[in-house]
Amino acid sequence: MTSICTHTEGIVVTELPALIAGCEDCLAIGGTWVHLRMCQTCGHIGCCDSSPNKHATAHHRETGHPIVRSAEPGEDWSWCYVDELMFRLRPA
Ligand SMILES: [Zn+2]
Ligand SMILES: [Zn+2]
Ligand SMILES: [Zn+2]
Repeated sequence: MTSICTHTEGIVVTELPALIAGCEDCLAIGGTWVHLRMCQTCGHIGCCDSSPNKHATAHHRETGHPIVRSAEPGEDWSWCYVDELMFRLRPA
């Protein structure tokens, strides 16, 4: 890997919650989602860019929180919106 995300020090939330009801914002408006992403700054659960409302990206735009991780079963990759970089966090 040649490029390195410079925002990983700001990561607060690494583990997914035990129970994920769905995209917080879709649940609020009665929307539907395809895949879920979790903000690693505040733990916000939003939907991916394949979903109609793209709430994970909207959350990044609103808050400036740079990094989300996949909230899909078996997926552990993270994505930095600022660097447009996909990476995996090493287990501590
Ligand atoms: Zn970054
Ligand atoms: Zn959503
Ligand atoms: Zn956030």
